[in-house]
Amino acid sequence: MNKKIVVLAGDGIGPEVTAVAVEVLKAVGKRYHHEFTFEYELIGHASIEKTGSPFTDEALSKCKQADAILLGAVGLPMYDNNPSLKVRPEQGLLKIRKELGLFANLRPIKLFDELLDASSLKPEVIKGADILFFRELTGDIYFGTPRERRENGTVAVDTMIYAQYEIERIARMAFDAALTRRKKLCSVDKANVLECSRLWRETVQKISSEYPDIEVTHMFIDNAAMQLIKNPKQFDVILTGNMFGDILTDEAAQIAGSMGMLPSASVGKTVALYEPIHGSAPDIAGKGIANPMASVLSVALMLDISFGLKTESQAVINAVSQYLKDGFRTFDIADSKTSKDKILDTQSCGEKLISYLLIS
Ligand code: NAD
Repeated sequence: MNKKIVVLAGDGIGPEVTAVAVEVLKAVGKRYHHEFTFEYELIGHASIEKTGSPFTDEALSKCKQADAILLGAVGLPMYDNNPSLKVRPEQGLLKIRKELGLFANLRPIKLFDELLDASSLKPEVIKGADILFFRELTGDIYFGTPRERRENGTVAVDTMIYAQYEIERIARMAFDAALTRRKKLCSVDKANVLECSRLWRETVQKISSEYPDIEVTHMFIDNAAMQLIKNPKQFDVILTGNMFGDILTDEAAQIAGSMGMLPSASVGKTVALYEPIHGSAPDIAGKGIANPMASVLSVALMLDISFGLKTESQAVINAVSQYLKDGFRTFDIADSKTSKDKILDTQSCGEKLISYLLIS
């Protein structure tokens, strides 16, 4: 198999973790006789610095011609601390999602047993948790207009908006996924308060009639935030909007032990994009200590979803599992029982993973 992958490493730890993921893909190619070629384009601050734009039309056009996209992360404190800057790294993310029609963000939350003690939650609460989030990605308050300041900047407006077709298409995808899992779907909204959520709930109820085998529940976001850490095992597929999904999946990262462990796939009409759920982590950027697993596990999703290479995808997951079983950790998932010589930096973690991949 011959596949072209565009790499958008971005900012902060983005280039550090994607470098490992690329090496892992190359090792998969070597082990299973596939050819993966990589083209590098800019996004976020890295792109603003060079071109003035957070994501250029030329980079977008390269992405459109690719078989898959691997993204690192965007963002820097200089933007977070200065909200009035008009050109911002995250505009690059919103542009690529919108332009490629990446309306569904799949976020699997699965705990490796070896990391039971890395979470701040009790092992008996999280052991066996296995959740697949479907977060809508191109609608909601992140895209609605008007978005502006009024009355000399003293009043701010954002607009939450959903069209029925946007809810229907991601709902169908989530129901289809539930059919292949434990056949449970929980739709999360705030239908007691928000008009958008009432449309969301009505639409999910309508689609559910096409899926009689799926047990459907509806939960308000505030309750869902609580239930997720109280009893995560009650959930199978969770379907929710853009903003609620953004927040809930960061919370769910605690179930998996660290933000550094969670991959995602953004899929839509054409080429799909794979990225960790974490951001650019400016507090650790440049130190070479970031956990690259979220990026590596994103590559496992790419092999499975975009290329249909299930054996290869599982081989990557097995390598991660073996690495953890053998006691290796990056600092974020190390605990008091981890011996110093087993705490690896980003690059050594990648080398270890590749050695497992090549001998398996
Ligand atoms: P973050 O995810 O970057 O970091 C949160 C915490 O998790 C930090 O303490 C960080 O060190 C830790 N962390 C994250 N990834 C890690 C990894 N791989 N290994 C070890 N530790 C890791 O979130 P934040 O601090 O809220 O945001 C930082 C910047 O990232 C901001 O500019 C924000 O806008 C941006 N951001 C970008 C994306 C994206 O590119 N998709 C997503 C979220 C935030």
